[in-house]
Amino acid sequence: MHWKDISGNRGTWQTFKHGRFKITIGDNHIHYSEGEWVITCHPWFDAHPIGSVLSLESAKRKAIRIIKNKLEECLKALDTATTRGKRALFLDIDGVLCLDGETIEPDLVDNLASIVTRKDMIVLSSAWRLHNSLRLEVERALAQKGLSLRGITPTLGQTLEKRPAEIETWLDQHKGVTHWVVLDDYDLDMYASPEFCKHFVKTRLRDGLTKDKAEEAQRVLEKEA
Ligand SMILES: [Mg+2]
Repeated sequence: MHWKDISGNRGTWQTFKHGRFKITIGDNHIHYSEGEWVITCHPWFDAHPIGSVLSLESAKRKAIRIIKNKLEECLKALDTATTRGKRALFLDIDGVLCLDGETIEPDLVDNLASIVTRKDMIVLSSAWRLHNSLRLEVERALAQKGLSLRGITPTLGQTLEKRPAEIETWLDQHKGVTHWVVLDDYDLDMYASPEFCKHFVKTRLRDGLTKDKAEEAQRVLEKEA
Protein backbone atom coordinates (compact mmCIF):
# COMPACT_ATOMS: atom_id res chain seq x y z
CA MET A 1 0.00 0.00 0.00
CA HIS A 2 1.47 3.36 -0.98
CA TRP A 3 0.90 6.42 1.22
CA LYS A 4 1.63 9.89 -0.15
CA ASP A 5 3.10 12.53 2.15
CA ILE A 6 0.86 15.60 1.98
CA SER A 7 2.23 17.34 5.06
CA GLY A 8 3.60 20.44 3.40
CA ASN A 9 4.67 23.01 5.95
CA ARG A 10 2.76 21.85 8.98
CA GLY A 11 5.31 21.85 11.72
CA THR A 12 6.19 18.52 13.28
CA TRP A 13 2.97 16.73 12.30
CA GLN A 14 3.10 14.47 9.29
CA THR A 15 0.08 13.76 7.10
CA PHE A 16 -0.11 10.87 4.65
CA LYS A 17 -2.82 10.04 2.18
CA HIS A 18 -3.91 6.84 0.49
CA GLY A 19 -7.09 6.93 -1.61
CA ARG A 20 -9.85 8.21 0.62
CA PHE A 21 -7.85 7.65 3.80
CA LYS A 22 -5.62 10.17 5.50
CA ILE A 23 -3.35 9.71 8.49
CA THR A 24 -2.02 12.57 10.52
CA ILE A 25 0.58 11.73 13.09
CA GLY A 26 -0.67 14.01 15.83
CA ASP A 27 -3.74 13.53 18.02
CA ASN A 28 -5.40 10.15 18.42
CA HIS A 29 -8.85 9.92 16.93
CA ILE A 30 -10.76 9.08 13.78
CA HIS A 31 -13.50 10.92 11.94
CA TYR A 32 -15.19 11.03 8.57
CA SER A 33 -15.63 14.29 6.71
CA GLU A 34 -16.31 15.33 3.14
CA GLY A 35 -16.05 11.81 1.79
CA GLU A 36 -12.75 11.14 3.47
CA TRP A 37 -11.69 9.09 6.51
CA VAL A 38 -9.20 10.97 8.65
CA ILE A 39 -7.23 9.08 11.26
CA THR A 40 -4.90 10.94 13.51
CA CYS A 41 -2.52 9.01 15.70
CA HIS A 42 -0.61 10.43 18.64
CA PRO A 43 3.14 9.85 18.22
CA TRP A 44 3.54 8.51 21.75
CA PHE A 45 0.70 6.08 22.15
CA ASP A 46 0.81 2.39 23.06
CA ALA A 47 3.67 0.91 25.02
CA HIS A 48 6.42 3.06 23.59
CA PRO A 49 8.86 4.45 26.15
CA ILE A 50 8.07 8.08 26.96
CA GLY A 51 9.65 10.35 24.42
CA SER A 52 10.07 7.76 21.70
CA VAL A 53 8.40 8.68 18.45
CA LEU A 54 5.99 6.23 16.91
CA SER A 55 7.23 5.00 13.57
CA LEU A 56 5.21 5.84 10.51
CA GLU A 57 4.80 2.14 9.69
CA SER A 58 3.33 1.51 13.12
CA ALA A 59 0.97 4.48 12.72
CA LYS A 60 -0.20 3.12 9.38
CA ARG A 61 -0.79 -0.31 10.86
CA LYS A 62 -2.81 1.20 13.68
CA ALA A 63 -4.76 3.36 11.21
CA ILE A 64 -5.61 0.36 9.05
CA ARG A 65 -6.79 -1.52 12.15
CA ILE A 66 -8.99 1.41 13.16
CA ILE A 67 -10.41 1.73 9.64
CA LYS A 68 -11.18 -1.99 9.53
CA ASN A 69 -12.97 -1.94 12.90
CA LYS A 70 -14.84 1.22 11.98
CA LEU A 71 -15.93 -0.20 8.62
CA GLU A 72 -17.11 -3.42 10.28
CA GLU A 73 -19.12 -1.31 12.72
CA CYS A 74 -20.64 0.68 9.81
CA LEU A 75 -21.46 -2.47 7.82
CA LYS A 76 -23.12 -4.01 10.89
CA ALA A 77 -25.21 -0.87 11.42
CA LEU A 78 -26.10 -0.93 7.72
CA ASP A 79 -27.11 -4.61 7.93
CA THR A 80 -29.31 -3.87 10.92
CA ALA A 81 -30.89 -0.89 9.18
CA THR A 82 -31.58 -2.74 5.93
CA THR A 83 -33.05 -5.79 7.68
CA ARG A 84 -35.18 -3.88 10.21
CA GLY A 85 -38.58 -5.50 10.61
CA LYS A 86 -37.76 -8.18 8.02
CA ARG A 87 -38.56 -11.89 8.17
CA ALA A 88 -35.92 -14.51 7.32
CA LEU A 89 -36.39 -18.08 6.11
CA PHE A 90 -33.36 -20.33 6.48
CA LEU A 91 -33.50 -22.86 3.73
CA ASP A 92 -32.03 -26.34 3.60
CA ILE A 93 -32.35 -28.06 0.18
CA ASP A 94 -32.04 -31.85 0.52
CA GLY A 95 -35.14 -33.08 2.29
CA VAL A 96 -36.84 -29.69 1.88
CA LEU A 97 -36.97 -28.82 -1.84
CA CYS A 98 -35.01 -31.79 -3.23
CA LEU A 99 -35.94 -35.42 -2.55
CA ASP A 100 -33.48 -37.36 -4.72
CA GLY A 101 -30.24 -35.49 -3.99
CA GLU A 102 -30.26 -33.95 -7.47
CA THR A 103 -33.43 -32.26 -8.60
CA ILE A 104 -35.23 -29.34 -7.00
CA GLU A 105 -38.96 -30.11 -7.16
CA PRO A 106 -41.04 -27.23 -8.61
CA ASP A 107 -44.08 -28.30 -6.53
CA LEU A 108 -42.10 -27.95 -3.34
CA VAL A 109 -40.80 -24.53 -4.44
CA ASP A 110 -44.48 -23.60 -4.96
CA ASN A 111 -45.17 -24.48 -1.33
CA LEU A 112 -42.28 -22.26 -0.28
CA ALA A 113 -43.51 -19.44 -2.54
CA SER A 114 -46.95 -19.64 -0.91
CA ILE A 115 -45.56 -18.33 2.40
CA VAL A 116 -42.90 -15.88 1.17
CA THR A 117 -43.67 -12.20 0.65
CA ARG A 118 -41.58 -9.78 -1.42
CA LYS A 119 -39.94 -8.31 1.69
CA ASP A 120 -38.88 -11.67 3.14
CA MET A 121 -35.28 -12.81 3.04
CA ILE A 122 -34.52 -16.36 1.92
CA VAL A 123 -31.15 -17.35 3.36
CA LEU A 124 -29.48 -20.54 2.15
CA SER A 125 -28.29 -22.64 5.10
CA SER A 126 -27.90 -25.87 3.09
CA ALA A 127 -24.52 -27.33 2.09
CA TRP A 128 -25.61 -26.39 -1.46
CA ARG A 129 -24.43 -22.86 -0.59
CA LEU A 130 -20.82 -24.08 -0.57
CA HIS A 131 -20.63 -24.93 -4.29
CA ASN A 132 -21.18 -22.28 -6.94
CA SER A 133 -22.89 -24.61 -9.41
CA LEU A 134 -25.33 -25.90 -6.75
CA ARG A 135 -26.04 -22.41 -5.47
CA LEU A 136 -26.79 -21.27 -9.01
CA GLU A 137 -29.16 -24.18 -9.38
CA VAL A 138 -31.02 -23.09 -6.25
CA GLU A 139 -31.17 -19.51 -7.58
CA ARG A 140 -32.51 -20.73 -10.93
CA ALA A 141 -35.20 -22.92 -9.31
CA LEU A 142 -36.31 -20.09 -7.01
CA ALA A 143 -36.29 -17.52 -9.84
CA GLN A 144 -38.73 -19.67 -11.83
CA LYS A 145 -41.24 -19.05 -9.03
CA GLY A 146 -40.40 -15.36 -8.63
CA LEU A 147 -38.22 -15.90 -5.54
CA SER A 148 -34.61 -14.99 -4.90
CA LEU A 149 -31.87 -15.75 -2.42
CA ARG A 150 -30.94 -12.88 -0.12
CA GLY A 151 -27.95 -14.44 1.56
CA ILE A 152 -26.14 -17.50 2.81
CA THR A 153 -25.15 -18.49 6.33
CA PRO A 154 -21.46 -18.41 7.32
CA THR A 155 -19.51 -21.66 7.56
CA LEU A 156 -18.37 -22.60 11.05
CA GLY A 157 -17.46 -26.23 10.42
CA GLN A 158 -17.93 -29.23 8.20
CA THR A 159 -20.66 -30.90 10.25
CA LEU A 160 -24.43 -30.42 10.31
CA GLU A 161 -24.28 -29.96 14.08
CA LYS A 162 -22.84 -26.49 13.43
CA ARG A 163 -25.87 -25.38 11.42
CA PRO A 164 -27.83 -23.85 14.33
CA ALA A 165 -24.73 -21.85 15.32
CA GLU A 166 -24.24 -20.75 11.68
CA ILE A 167 -27.86 -19.52 11.56
CA GLU A 168 -27.51 -17.74 14.91
CA THR A 169 -24.32 -16.06 13.68
CA TRP A 170 -26.17 -14.79 10.61
CA LEU A 171 -28.99 -13.49 12.81
CA ASP A 172 -26.45 -11.80 15.05
CA GLN A 173 -25.10 -9.96 12.01
CA HIS A 174 -28.61 -8.93 10.89
CA LYS A 175 -30.18 -7.75 14.10
CA GLY A 176 -33.05 -6.01 12.32
CA VAL A 177 -34.73 -9.37 11.58
CA THR A 178 -37.79 -9.76 13.80
CA HIS A 179 -39.32 -13.03 12.54
CA TRP A 180 -37.56 -16.17 11.30
CA VAL A 181 -38.02 -19.83 10.56
CA VAL A 182 -35.56 -22.66 9.86
CA LEU A 183 -36.59 -25.30 7.31
CA ASP A 184 -34.48 -28.44 7.56
CA ASP A 185 -34.90 -32.24 7.55
CA TYR A 186 -31.95 -32.82 9.90
CA ASP A 187 -32.40 -33.10 13.69
CA LEU A 188 -31.06 -29.62 14.31
CA ASP A 189 -33.04 -29.50 17.57
CA MET A 190 -30.48 -31.95 19.04
CA TYR A 191 -27.79 -29.27 18.79
CA ALA A 192 -29.76 -26.09 19.33
CA SER A 193 -31.01 -23.88 22.14
CA PRO A 194 -34.68 -24.02 23.24
CA GLU A 195 -35.14 -20.57 21.65
CA PHE A 196 -33.80 -21.84 18.31
CA CYS A 197 -36.14 -24.86 18.46
CA LYS A 198 -39.17 -22.54 18.59
CA HIS A 199 -38.21 -21.40 15.08
CA PHE A 200 -37.44 -24.83 13.67
CA VAL A 201 -39.74 -26.69 11.27
CA LYS A 202 -38.45 -30.20 10.62
CA THR A 203 -39.36 -31.67 7.26
CA ARG A 204 -39.05 -35.31 6.24
CA LEU A 205 -36.38 -36.44 3.79
CA ARG A 206 -38.89 -38.29 1.60
CA ASP A 207 -41.62 -35.59 1.61
CA GLY A 208 -39.81 -32.26 1.86
CA LEU A 209 -41.70 -29.01 2.31
CA THR A 210 -45.29 -30.25 1.98
CA LYS A 211 -48.25 -27.86 2.10
CA ASP A 212 -48.76 -28.77 5.77
CA LYS A 213 -45.13 -28.04 6.61
CA ALA A 214 -45.34 -24.73 4.72
CA GLU A 215 -48.38 -23.80 6.82
CA GLU A 216 -46.49 -24.73 9.97
CA ALA A 217 -43.61 -22.50 8.82
CA GLN A 218 -46.08 -19.69 8.17
CA ARG A 219 -47.32 -19.93 11.76
CA VAL A 220 -43.73 -19.79 13.06
CA LEU A 221 -43.04 -16.75 10.90
CA GLU A 222 -45.98 -14.92 12.46
CA LYS A 223 -44.37 -15.19 15.91
CA GLU A 224 -42.11 -12.31 16.86
CA ALA A 225 -38.53 -13.36 17.68
MG1 LIG B 1 -31.16 -31.69 4.40
